[in-house]
Amino acid sequence: MALNYRAPKGMKDNVGSQQEELEEIFRLSSDLFRLHGYMMISTPILEPAGLFTRTIGEASDIVKKEMYSFEDRGGEVLALRPEGTAPIMRAYLEGGLKSRGLPQKLFYYGPMFRRERPQAGRYRQFHQVGAEVLGSDSPLADAEIISISAKLFGALGVQDYTLLLNSLGCRKCQKDYLAILCPYLEEVKEDLCEQCLVRARQSPLRIFDCKEASCQDALSHAPMIVDFLCEGCGRHFSELQEYLDLMGINYRVEPLLARGLDYYSRTAFEYQFDELGAKSTVSAGGRYDYLAEELGGSPTPGVGFSLGVERLLILLRSRGKTPLKAYGLDVYVAPASASYKKAALLILERLRSAKIRSDTDFLDRSLKAQMRAADRLGAKLVLIVGEEERQRNVVVLRDLAGKKQWEIPVEDIEREVNNFLERKRVDDGDG
Ligand SMILES: [Zn+2]
Ligand SMILES: [Zn+2]
Repeated sequence: MALNYRAPKGMKDNVGSQQEELEEIFRLSSDLFRLHGYMMISTPILEPAGLFTRTIGEASDIVKKEMYSFEDRGGEVLALRPEGTAPIMRAYLEGGLKSRGLPQKLFYYGPMFRRERPQAGRYRQFHQVGAEVLGSDSPLADAEIISISAKLFGALGVQDYTLLLNSLGCRKCQKDYLAILCPYLEEVKEDLCEQCLVRARQSPLRIFDCKEASCQDALSHAPMIVDFLCEGCGRHFSELQEYLDLMGINYRVEPLLARGLDYYSRTAFEYQFDELGAKSTVSAGGRYDYLAEELGGSPTPGVGFSLGVERLLILLRSRGKTPLKAYGLDVYVAPASASYKKAALLILERLRSAKIRSDTDFLDRSLKAQMRAADRLGAKLVLIVGEEERQRNVVVLRDLAGKKQWEIPVEDIEREVNNFLERKRVDDGDG
């Protein structure tokens, strides 16, 4: 079929269970965030492009290659948000959220946009859930932010992650470190790729992001930022590790972990899973104590993380897990012929008033075809309305899985259906 329009490349429609899975992750994580005292925030999908170029960094892949930005009809340069942290800090500063008391603990979920090379499981419109703690530099906040992903993975039954942890230091440590790192990079520049040479000039702290084997070789003996932490940063990092130990969260200090964004300071972390022999980062974050100043605000420490929902779903599928509980229909109401449509409609409305998920036929199909439809919809029961039954004021309930059927009085429909569903829940071990 030669359709005139298709979804933009790398973007997809989420239908039925695909969308339900996304919603289920949103729901699970929202519950967790609220449990930890976070409040939801949503910000516009469009932001001034400068918000991202300034904070993520001109030299980053996101800004250079992946950000959707355009001039609107008024000549303003806008961007589809590629991430959630800078918009939330903008909203915090612009809305004076500080006056509500500190820290502000905020969570979000929604679509993000990056024009990445199309590949399996990577979408140009994808979804993130995430949270930020603004206005506290306590390592307690870092520990809490880190712990939430671990709890979400636990709730979903995937705990085979590796949590990588690093400290990127503050401006003072970074200055001392760069004084050693830059001459080192100069020494090994012959072995660095073109992009690393650009990084070496523009944002040398991000040099370790490169995945090229030759660059990784060249950098294997590079000085590490963790060896240059000032007293304050050293204490912050060791306190964070004490809190994680107390919470029973396993981690590995990875001195090469840099994170691909410019605004991180001190804590950086990533949750990685083995995925088809490769490492897949599903959740990541860190501290960004200088972000507020970059945006022209007063100094505001912050720490946060985001989790890629589509990547999490791919991981769950590969582990044979699904976040979905049974979302199928409870009852399919089937009139034996068109003359019982009105009687069926009244029963359907009663079921829906009783909060029982129910549906009926809209295509005047035969009873046999309606049975097939009910099966396709995952209905647990079919309720048949026919002449003989109508005369005796009963209807027939058919258990599709158990392949048995029985008559019930019309006035008892809700009670009988609920009893059946309750028994089934117990039998299925679904509590
Ligand atoms: Zn420091
Ligand atoms: Zn490189």
